[in-house]
Amino acid sequence: MSDKYDVVVIGSGPAGYVAAIRAAQLGLKTACIEKWKNAEGNGVNGGTCLNVGCIPSKALLDSSFKYHEAAEGLAIHGISTSGVAMDIPAMLERKNKIINQLTGGIVGLFKANGVTALYGTGKLLAGKKVELTDNDGAVSVIDADNVILASGSLPIAIPVAPVDDDLILDSTGALEIGEVPKRLGVIGAGVIGLELGSVWGRLGSKVVLLEALDDFLAIMDKAIAKESKKIFTKQGLDIRLGARVTGTQIKGREVEVTYQTSAGEELKETFDKLIVCVGRRPFTDGLLSADSGVEVDERGSVFVNEFCATNAPGVYAVGDLVRGPMLAHKGSEEGIMVAERIAGHKAQMNYDIVPNVIYTHPEVASVGQTEEQVKAAGEPYNVGVFPFAASGRAMAANDTDGMVKIIAHADTDRIMGCHIVGPSAADLTQQVAIAMEFGSSAEDLGMTVFGHPTLSEAVHEAALAVNGNAIHIPNRKRR
Ligand code: FAD
Ligand code: AMP
Repeated sequence: MSDKYDVVVIGSGPAGYVAAIRAAQLGLKTACIEKWKNAEGNGVNGGTCLNVGCIPSKALLDSSFKYHEAAEGLAIHGISTSGVAMDIPAMLERKNKIINQLTGGIVGLFKANGVTALYGTGKLLAGKKVELTDNDGAVSVIDADNVILASGSLPIAIPVAPVDDDLILDSTGALEIGEVPKRLGVIGAGVIGLELGSVWGRLGSKVVLLEALDDFLAIMDKAIAKESKKIFTKQGLDIRLGARVTGTQIKGREVEVTYQTSAGEELKETFDKLIVCVGRRPFTDGLLSADSGVEVDERGSVFVNEFCATNAPGVYAVGDLVRGPMLAHKGSEEGIMVAERIAGHKAQMNYDIVPNVIYTHPEVASVGQTEEQVKAAGEPYNVGVFPFAASGRAMAANDTDGMVKIIAHADTDRIMGCHIVGPSAADLTQQVAIAMEFGSSAEDLGMTVFGHPTLSEAVHEAALAVNGNAIHIPNRKRR
């Protein structure tokens, strides 16, 4: 039996590594177990986010955007280019370098904060004991006063499109495609499908997204989803809604996909590569012994209360493993909350204000409630909208697609939601998230001085528009 820890964290993705660092900062003796191995077979921290998720996808999005701008977006500025070419291996190498830098950075942070990094597979036993099978197969049992489960999620596999890591890929394989496929199919027009489709579309693939649902981005604000679809379609993404994939057939070096339309028609389309992006599932495989006392709900998530405590005393679960949106920052905040509560602080998390972003260009970002949610709740509300086409800064940048939409309570004027499709939507939405965290009204935001000329002014104007006071667009009549 090895030393006893105050806290043992299983998993070192953004939920687990952040929880471990915060726990150690608060003086708790902390270990973090990670089973991920890199290509050389060495243990590596950072989880999905750093290795095959947020960071590598953004690296490819940024590289492909720069290529696309250089190839097609500069003439309007009077810049002529010729011979612009993309070196795909160099693009992938840059991405891998960033991954190595960031995952290595966690090792440094663990050392600096006194977190013991353990490499291998953790399994929760009864009585807050954790079995560790290290990467050489040696098994030991670690005693802990508290255990934080942070084993994350995996891509959902669908039998109709089995991933072969050659012609049919999941999101991980899609980050490693070595040459631009002429025809790329994407199953699922959700966040990840749109981001990966955009990467390869900008590099020259003809991209078709097959989405089973009839609604595009069904959980987003409808007006923003509609505008986004218009913009993506203009960019060349072929988004087919009501298209449920029912089969795939490998024919030589091609994949023939069969899908059924909402009207009941059966159609076929042939691709050079197919990416399956139909969502992710909580990863509990091998994590819990039968007598661990931790309950898993019907969706496979570890069951937790609002403070991320499981049914087993002293055992917590955070991140993609538990209910709520599968987002890195949501997991990190849960990790901090749990570490602080273990240390005796009264921490809590505001689940109502968790921003959500699609890193296409333009970005699509939202925080708080959609208009449809507010309406369904029967709350009286006002809406302010400002299009980027009316923003001087967006015009200067030749980046005028999209709009800002702010929703505020009609009686209190408190901001209930902000939804943006447009340039820098992620950062603009964050400004409103901060305002919302402080209980801001639309008027408060309207009374704030915004620098000129900035994209932020579109947020300012949308806030003013909520009460019919926008300056740079005609206001809707208010009752
Ligand atoms: P993970 O990051 O999945 O980490 C869990 C870790 O636990 C893994 O390292 C795993 O190896 C380890 N583990 C599992 N079981 C065990 C065990 N038994 N013993 C030891 N270790 C174990 N989110 C955003 O917020 N923004 C984005 O832009 C974004 N982009 C994405 C793009 C892609 C392509 C993908 C796939 C995801 C993206 N996400 C994004 C989602 C984000 O990556 C996840 O929400 C986040 O990584 C979840 O963090 P986590 O710590 O809960 O789990
Ligand atoms: P997300 O949950 O944002 O990752 O999006 C995944 C998307 O995949 C959802 O919009 C699902 O409707 C879609 N999806 C799931 N299964 C299929 C399928 N067989 N064919 C087409 N789309 C699918």
